[in-house]
Amino acid sequence: MYLHRIRTVEPMTIERVLKYSEQELSKWDLEHLWHPFTQMKEWSAQGPLFIVRGEGNYLIDIDGRRYIDGVASLWANIHGHAREEINQAIEEQLKQLAHSTLLGLSHPASAVLAKRLVEIVPMGLKRVFYSESGSTAVEIALKIAFQYWQNQGYKEKRRFICLKEGYHGDTLGAVSVGGIDLFHEIYGPLLFETIKLPSPYLRCKGAGLPLAEGAGLCASDLEQVLEKEHQHIAAFILEPLIQGAGGMLPMPPGYLRAAKKLCDEFDVLLIADEVATGFGRTGRMFACQAEGVSPDILCLGKGITGGYLPLSATICTEDIFQAFWGDYEELKTFFHGHTYTGNPLACAAALSSLELFQNDGTLEQLPSKIEALEKGLSKLQRLSPVGEVRQVGMMAGVEIFEDAQQRRPYPLEMRVGHKVCMAVRKHGVILRNLGDTIVILPPLSITLHELDQIINAVEAAIHEVCGGK
Ligand code: PLP
Repeated sequence: MYLHRIRTVEPMTIERVLKYSEQELSKWDLEHLWHPFTQMKEWSAQGPLFIVRGEGNYLIDIDGRRYIDGVASLWANIHGHAREEINQAIEEQLKQLAHSTLLGLSHPASAVLAKRLVEIVPMGLKRVFYSESGSTAVEIALKIAFQYWQNQGYKEKRRFICLKEGYHGDTLGAVSVGGIDLFHEIYGPLLFETIKLPSPYLRCKGAGLPLAEGAGLCASDLEQVLEKEHQHIAAFILEPLIQGAGGMLPMPPGYLRAAKKLCDEFDVLLIADEVATGFGRTGRMFACQAEGVSPDILCLGKGITGGYLPLSATICTEDIFQAFWGDYEELKTFFHGHTYTGNPLACAAALSSLELFQNDGTLEQLPSKIEALEKGLSKLQRLSPVGEVRQVGMMAGVEIFEDAQQRRPYPLEMRVGHKVCMAVRKHGVILRNLGDTIVILPPLSITLHELDQIINAVEAAIHEVCGGK
């Protein structure tokens, strides 16, 4: 009877899914879906926007409306949507093998990608551990750092230093080293204790120092903690150059280099979380390269597959890897792994994305785009509700205030940042806000004209929502 039922059901192909009416889809979305980082009451009032297709830097909705993907499908898309080369790489891999485990087996795409990654990441990073999300890449980094010291007999080195306003994902380890109260505070009782240093950006602001002169001050905060606590510290984790989800908060130039030097001096590992900044986002392949820093552990995600499939990588030095090397009964093994670790389709997409970096000259084209974004931001800066614009490479935030001069924020319940992002849609752009900071973070393949369109849309939306000049 059960088998009979299965045979009579129409196959659930993509065409079949698209045959449903928007009303039906909306009903099922509202009845059954729970969207991430979303107050579902608010969601149910506005109704879902169904994206059915991607084409270049555009997303296309169920009614055929086109939107510039101004948030790169959550900071992941690099070369645009539906790139033939990436699609083909995935299809070719799919014909061979969709998935097989890396636990006890290997497959070619995972080995080739590991070699390619090691060729392009900062010097000294040599061993690639795959998983599927930025959060798991961070969990793995934390566990590796912890066990690195345990395996060598330094049982007391078990604490982590991290930064206020830091964001490393939503699993509990990643939340423990996070520093955004709005997202993280409620889970306090579930988390391990960390030492949280001030956000370098806010520290400089608080001290009235221009960012360009703030590296020394922020480094001395770190030095003081290390001097006192280094015997108990396993690692310091940070997002290099810019704290993303914390509100697009740039770091003082030189801070990353100073932090690495201090970590080396005090025998503490440096974990660079480049889940957001990696793969060209800040203007170089990796943000660490801007300051000539090789972290001990590097976390990559989001753009690793060009934004096509879930994959992440935690890459560490040979020295760290060697601390896990031994006979089985020594119990130094890293007992960690996920079902889809190093999925072949995702690895194939990642390899194709890396090829596109070369063939498209992605990095070579960035300076003019970064400059155009800077110009656009300075135009937005002149709007009266805009208190501040912040940018590192192709990552930018536009912060709006009820009173920008006094830096008085809008009341939380007004949801002004969210409203601006909703208004932007009417102008054919998809953006997301972090509080009242409007994030602009398009695919790296964005054109100068499309960048202009994003800026104009933000300008119009701010006028509509906040008024002002
Ligand atoms: N680390 C950083 C710096 C991030 O920005 C993010 C996501 O925004 C993460 C980790 C978590 O990545 P994921 O959402 O893939 O778990």
